[in-house]
Amino acid sequence: MKCAFCDGESVTHGGEHLWDDWINSEIPKKLYHAKKRLTLTSTPIQFATKGLKEKVPAVCTKCNNGWMSALTAKIKGRYSATVLNGAPFSLGPEDAVILAAFTLMKAVAKNYYYGRDDPFFTRAACERLRNSLAIPHFVKMWAAAYQGASRYAFHSNFHIVSTSEPGPLYGMEFFSYTYILGNLVLQLLAPRRKDILDRGKPLITLVPNARWQSTAIQFWPEAGQALSWPPAKYFGDSTIEHFIYRFGVPVTVRL
Ligand SMILES: [Zn+2]
Repeated sequence: MKCAFCDGESVTHGGEHLWDDWINSEIPKKLYHAKKRLTLTSTPIQFATKGLKEKVPAVCTKCNNGWMSALTAKIKGRYSATVLNGAPFSLGPEDAVILAAFTLMKAVAKNYYYGRDDPFFTRAACERLRNSLAIPHFVKMWAAAYQGASRYAFHSNFHIVSTSEPGPLYGMEFFSYTYILGNLVLQLLAPRRKDILDRGKPLITLVPNARWQSTAIQFWPEAGQALSWPPAKYFGDSTIEHFIYRFGVPVTVRL
């Protein structure tokens, strides 16, 4: 399998840490419960894992140890107190670029491996991310906050939604990715044309319902002003799932 981001060969074992190693060394050494959802309608499967060791063999060693590792180090330096303790932060335009590139990198690696029959992001888009941390047009991202019964949550989920109803969204599909890192929740939404032959046509994107405004701060596209986290409201255990699937209604969902 080719690397998700370059012409190199991806490793066959190991690969990118879905949960970066610095988190494993910071969080207490005990069993964590991870939730794995197979289909939208199935009950989430609970399994215990010692630490957060999931790796995605979707990238080459050079990418993993090079630009990806440099980007991860910046995130650790800037957000570890937020991830681990919910420390507030402000987000200037340069920070937004780094956070957006990190979120997209996680989304691409996960989707490239688990959705390998038809990766959502083009190779050109992945290479631009690697070369210049560029984010494709029409991609939107939000930051939210989690505070549940357990001190931290760790979750990485992507799904693709589309509609079969005639209308302006017909023929479009939307990739939604949510990455929960301790107290910090990152979410990405990207559109594309469903039919490969239509992929040169103009894109339309979704706008979240206004009721989410107090829970999620849009940080991409970057609007040129400093943002502050956390938002007015936190997500808890009963509400986070609605946020993960907020773009799933009323359009149909394909995992
Ligand atoms: Zn590579």
